[in-house]
Amino acid sequence: MSYDDGPNDPYTLRLLDGLAKHDVKATFFLIGRYVRQRPDIVRDVVQAGHVIGNHTFSHPHLIWQTGPQVREELWRCRQEILDAVGEHSNLFRPPFGGRRPVTLRVARQLGLVPVMWNITGYDWKAPSVEYIERKVMPKVRGGNVILLHDGSHSAFGYDRSRSVIVTERLIARYQAEGYEFVTVPKMMGGV
Ligand SMILES: [Zn+2]
Repeated sequence: MSYDDGPNDPYTLRLLDGLAKHDVKATFFLIGRYVRQRPDIVRDVVQAGHVIGNHTFSHPHLIWQTGPQVREELWRCRQEILDAVGEHSNLFRPPFGGRRPVTLRVARQLGLVPVMWNITGYDWKAPSVEYIERKVMPKVRGGNVILLHDGSHSAFGYDRSRSVIVTERLIARYQAEGYEFVTVPKMMGGV
């Protein structure tokens, strides 16, 4: 499982509770300006054993950004996370999945590895938990990177209760079927 746009009070912490209940480690792509607001939540995420990655400082669509602007966004997010928890993963997820050659070149120069997803729950616009399940479940084959949101790029405190509920339901269902939920670095062959 991977989560974008946090940290977000209270949903990131609720998600940590749900993940802990099922002994699952996930990957969180954080927005720098929210990290600055709530570094304490970021520390809790790391302490719980999850992986955190860079989701830019202010969540712009990087397709419209120049190289120096992309560098600034990635650099500022990195600094905020460093201030909050110190060294972390080199993973980076572009907002809206938007990238072009200059985006990837700058990321590479900063030592960042882009991580996309291959299943999205469309939870940012989902009217119900069942809606999210219907988007995710038909696509689960194993080896998937599932994208959900613990926060929102447009507002801190945005209601993500559906994403929290669906997380527990998906994990319970697929663990019972024998699937394992791991972090992105572990899936990529690391530890
Ligand atoms: Zn995002």
